[in-house]
Amino acid sequence: MDVLEAVAEKIKESRYLVAFTGAGISKESGIPTFRGKDGLWAKYDPEELASWRGFLKNPKLVWEWYTWRMDLIGKAKPNPAHLGLAKLEKVGILKAVITQNVDGLHRRAGNKKVLELHGNIWRVKCVSCDFKDKVKEPPKEVPPKCPKCGSLLRPDVVWFGEPLPRDVWTEAVMEAMKSDVLLVIGTSGLVAPASMVPTMAHQRGSSIVEINPEDTPISSMAEIKVRSPAGSFFKELIERLRI
Ligand code: NAD
Ligand code: ZN
Repeated sequence: MDVLEAVAEKIKESRYLVAFTGAGISKESGIPTFRGKDGLWAKYDPEELASWRGFLKNPKLVWEWYTWRMDLIGKAKPNPAHLGLAKLEKVGILKAVITQNVDGLHRRAGNKKVLELHGNIWRVKCVSCDFKDKVKEPPKEVPPKCPKCGSLLRPDVVWFGEPLPRDVWTEAVMEAMKSDVLLVIGTSGLVAPASMVPTMAHQRGSSIVEINPEDTPISSMAEIKVRSPAGSFFKELIERLRI
């Protein structure tokens, strides 16, 4: 049995399929991952920029980086991997997507049950008061200020060292525990606590299917390893499943 057939069979036999995704699923949409070479921004460390420390040091620089990413994400479209997951949910096979991505592409592809562990780049919040807002485009001036109290606004995403939104995390853990098959797509498995999702599912007896061109710490748990880019693999998978 080839790997495509093996994954198709696993999905057909599943009773509670859940997907866990990372930056790699959006790469074929033109959104760079953190652990890769990004031209202009290659000399900056995302772990510095996406942190409270980095923001305190230089909010303008951090916002310039987010503005660049918002521009890229705004132009990007869901690729066959996002669309395939949306189709799997629509036909009732996929029960939830747990994502580390902040790009919102799963919802744009049509998925309804999306648990965004790290927030969403299209939301901002005030660093001082309770002001929160949704945005459609990057701020014109950076760093943007809170219209309510005048303090700085920040992206409503989870930075390195920050806790995850509690409700979303609780729900994600429950979904992972309920899964009998977990598709782990495009994540290096290096960012904790999100990286615990596959481990928890595996410990509860869920079969892990990893879709990632490279080996990761999750690979050793995986029953099936697909060493291809997610978009091109899903194109074939959806054809094979005839859904
Ligand atoms: P990561 O950058 O650490 O790892 C990306 C993984 O994707 C790697 O293992 C790589 O081998 C794999 N990959 C590369 N191309 C792929 C493809 N075409 N198909 C499948 N897999 C592919 O990403 P991470 O594990 O998500 O952790 C990084 C953190 O950065 C996350 O917390 C996330 O919030 C954030 N982030 C988000 C985005 C986004 O929203 N699109 C982009 C960059 C980073
Ligand atoms: Zn405020």
